[in-house]
Amino acid sequence: MMSLEKLVRPNIWSLAPYSSARDEYSGHEAHVFLDANENPYGAPLNRYPDPLQRKLKERIAQVKDVPADHIFLGNGSDEAIDLLYRCFCEPRQDNVVAIEPTYGMYKVCADINDVEYRPVLLDEHFQIKAASLLAACDEHTKLIWICSPNNPTGNDIEREEVLKVIQGFKGLVVVDEAYSDFSRLRPLRLDIQQHPNLVVLNTMSKAWASAAIRLGMAFASPEIIAVFNKVKYPYNVNLLTQEQATKMLSDPFEIDRKVQLILQQRTQMIEAFRLLPICQQVYPTDANFFLVRVTDAQAIYDYLVERGIIVRNRTRVTLCNNCLRITVGTRSENDELLGALRQYK
Ligand SMILES: *Cc1c(COP(=O)(O)O)cnc(C)c1O
Repeated sequence: MMSLEKLVRPNIWSLAPYSSARDEYSGHEAHVFLDANENPYGAPLNRYPDPLQRKLKERIAQVKDVPADHIFLGNGSDEAIDLLYRCFCEPRQDNVVAIEPTYGMYKVCADINDVEYRPVLLDEHFQIKAASLLAACDEHTKLIWICSPNNPTGNDIEREEVLKVIQGFKGLVVVDEAYSDFSRLRPLRLDIQQHPNLVVLNTMSKAWASAAIRLGMAFASPEIIAVFNKVKYPYNVNLLTQEQATKMLSDPFEIDRKVQLILQQRTQMIEAFRLLPICQQVYPTDANFFLVRVTDAQAIYDYLVERGIIVRNRTRVTLCNNCLRITVGTRSENDELLGALRQYK
């Protein structure tokens, strides 16, 4: 791995971060807070939240089995994605490499930050060889994006190839594990301490049933986490979100049960889809959605919208011609979709 000093943008490396009132005291038991110009009335929401979300991180450390000092929390994974560009990629000079097709935000954030984005096409099984990703890199490549299980294709990227990329690349490899709770593969986040150039992304938005609260996570070395903390907004995760996340994380077994239910429904949905006349191919999935190739994606999408049923039309995405991406819903939602598709002519 390149030294962190070489990887980080020079202005960020030398940045003196904003020091908030709540940053400057710690370790003392205090009870009179006259330091932050808050209104003294209206507890508890009158107070600024903990900028480093220490209590929540302790909880996440237990549930996710990652040390607390290896955790960054943000306003959705989207904040971590954007921070990776802002911390590591010099606009118009550095570039990033990513599998293609994949989650759209990596490219959008590259464009916003004026950083060159180099997509590398997956093969017909939606897999990739490490060598082809590494061949797309040059001395200005700072990040490689790998989403596994991948969105919109649904499949895990072969672990052996991901490890070869991590070992063969001098910059940072970002593995987005937004859907890893639905996969049988061991999450890579559990090995975060063995790979100093690995950043793993997680989110509360999918398996953890909390898309509305906007909480995303990045797992990485404490040195990388320190760079994120320097650049993030001081109070980037609000108190309501911290409290609701703590509550959701207090019952991981309940989430496990829901994940199992979704996986059972997924199996039934895929079997039913295979029998539909419009269905040409259901692609293998390790996530809570599946990609299906149909006879006419646009027409079927429009037909479903007419009936108040929204799926994701991916027909204009590379390698996904005539494909719809179907999220697994409740049994009754899934039945409604299947019923409508059986009537499609
Ligand atoms: C849904 C999704 C996320 C979640 O993003 P949030 O900002 O945390 O809601 C991240 N990565 C991928 C690949 C996703 O599909």
